[in-house]
Amino acid sequence: MPITGIYGPGDFGNPVHRRPAAQTRNRVSPAERARALPSLEWTPEVERATAHLYARVKNVISPVEWPFMAPYIKAINELKKTRDAVILAHNYQTPEIFHCVADIGGDSLQLAIEATKVKSDIIVQCGVHFMAETSKILNPHKTVLIPDSRAGCSLASSITGADVRLLRERFPGVPIVTYVNTSADVKAESDICCTSSNAVQVVESFGVDRVILIPDEYLARWVATQTDVKIIAWKGHCEVHERFTAEELRNYRKADPGLQILAHPECPPEVIAEADFTGSTSAMINFVKTKRPKKVVMVTECSMADNVQAETPGVEFVRPCNLCPHMKRITLPKILDSLVYLREEVEIDPTIAGRARRAVERMVQLKN
Ligand code: SF4
Repeated sequence: MPITGIYGPGDFGNPVHRRPAAQTRNRVSPAERARALPSLEWTPEVERATAHLYARVKNVISPVEWPFMAPYIKAINELKKTRDAVILAHNYQTPEIFHCVADIGGDSLQLAIEATKVKSDIIVQCGVHFMAETSKILNPHKTVLIPDSRAGCSLASSITGADVRLLRERFPGVPIVTYVNTSADVKAESDICCTSSNAVQVVESFGVDRVILIPDEYLARWVATQTDVKIIAWKGHCEVHERFTAEELRNYRKADPGLQILAHPECPPEVIAEADFTGSTSAMINFVKTKRPKKVVMVTECSMADNVQAETPGVEFVRPCNLCPHMKRITLPKILDSLVYLREEVEIDPTIAGRARRAVERMVQLKN
């Protein structure tokens, strides 16, 4: 079913605005800082203590780079035990974070749900700000830290809660489904959330002929090809996935006709048309791990291919490297600072968090 309407910032006379400054708080005394700072030298002891971690990433991190990373990795892993903290890392984090300091890796929703099952009181979110908010929404009594609160997202910042209220006024009675890649105030105004893997199921769950699916235009267009429900969309885009082109993929295939092309639904429709498989980050990872293609290209953020490659020796990866600049704000030194100084704490207005939690929980219940 084609898209029946597509709207964007300013279309209802509403002001074009961006995500408000991150709500964070610092809280460690100077004396505590001094006590917590570890040594960051590359020593034989550091080499020995991190050898098992290097074995995990040696096919994606060179021996020249490792001595700069290993002291931080050792310090972070020791400090997280002292702090009783758990580190969550999104699939788009670099391999030294994803494979060497994270306790839980995955997509944003998996991370937030898994965090509810651990006993630690402190969560360090290695990902972007909306992901840290999602963790806080589902773990309201825990301290959620993000190593750099400036880690934003072009998609999340394309829409605000006020925009969603205007959509509801314009289309009274039409259910609003919101992608999890949104801020807490947008989730709070929504009927239910969705991920890229369950968007079709969520849209069809209402049993109505028209649904608003926001804010990713390309995800909405892809869902519209999979269902008879009419979709009203929003003009939000992921700045990483929108950069891929169909011509780029045709050239890769021309160079090797046996190549398997996997695309994320946040890519433009003409890119998805060139793919052999379209699915969420988890679905793409599952495809590579279970089907073990000889050669593959993952049309998504390029650290994910590094992380999957570290776990799937023998599979050759072609890399059209589009990095997410927001994800790359998270680094080992900032994670260490986050644990040392217990910063930057994510805070959400409890009323907004409660309403956002309802939208996320409806989706989780649907899945179960
Ligand atoms: S990859 Fe795209 S959707 Fe994900 S955080 Fe970066 S800009 Fe946002």
